[in-house]
Order: sequence, then C-alpha cells, then structure tokens
Amino acid sequence: MKTLIPTQVNVQVSPSSVMVNGYFYIVDLGEHVRPRYHHVGINGVCTCVLGRNCPAVNDVRQYLADGGKRANRPPYGYYPVPPAKCPVCGQEVQYDASLSSRHRGAGWQCVAGGKSHYWQNRARISATRQRLAQQGKVV
Ligand SMILES: [Zn+2]
Ligand SMILES: [Zn+2]
Repeated sequence: MKTLIPTQVNVQVSPSSVMVNGYFYIVDLGEHVRPRYHHVGINGVCTCVLGRNCPAVNDVRQYLADGGKRANRPPYGYYPVPPAKCPVCGQEVQYDASLSSRHRGAGWQCVAGGKSHYWQNRARISATRQRLAQQGKVV
C-alpha cells in the first residue's frame, strides 16, 4: 500500500519583500513598479531619485520592526552611503562624489558646515582608531 504524502508547499510568508544584500536592503515593489527593485541604504535613504521619500524606505522600516534581518554593519569609519545626519552637528548631508574614496566610502557635505564637518568627522574617526590601536584593539 502506498501512503500518499501530501505535497508540502512551503510558502515562506515574509512580512514584506525585503532582502538584505551587504550594506543594503533590496526592496521588491512589485512588477508594476518601475524600477521594480529599490536599494535602501542603512541610512534610510533609497538610491532611486525619491531618496528618503521612496515607499521602499517604509517597507524596510516595517521589515525591521517585524524583526527582519539587518543589513551588514560596515567596518568602523567606512560609509557605504552618506550618513542619515551629519555626525558633527546633526544637520542634513548631501552626497559629494569628490570626497568619496575606496577606504572612507561615500563622501558627503553637511548643509550647515559643508566639507569642514566631513573632515572634522574623519579626524574624529582617525583619533578613535589611534586610541583603540594604542589599547591593542584593531578596528
Ligand atoms: Zn526607491
Ligand atoms: Zn554638520
């Protein structure tokens, strides 16, 4: 006698169509949306023209609130995307390609302090790195 094993359809019910890819969240907004896939950075800004106003940003927020897996944290001092706020004064920042580098990541300028806040932050990162190195910690 043959026992019929019911075909188990394992439907993974995910809270939303968000996937983690490195330092980014990839959001599938559905086939009728162009572009369909949106890349949201850990700063809560989408790489599409809508930036932080993109609906994909809300999807990521909901996904994280539902306990979704977080994107990788970049190494200390490395910015895969500009920070959500200026680390020096908390104002908005704007991407600046001329300050980007392979080691520092995405360059940015502060709307209040310009490039000087970028360099102040870099100096702070270097100082922290040095202090940790003196304590025998590698970052
Ligand atoms: Zn988007
Ligand atoms: Zn600033």
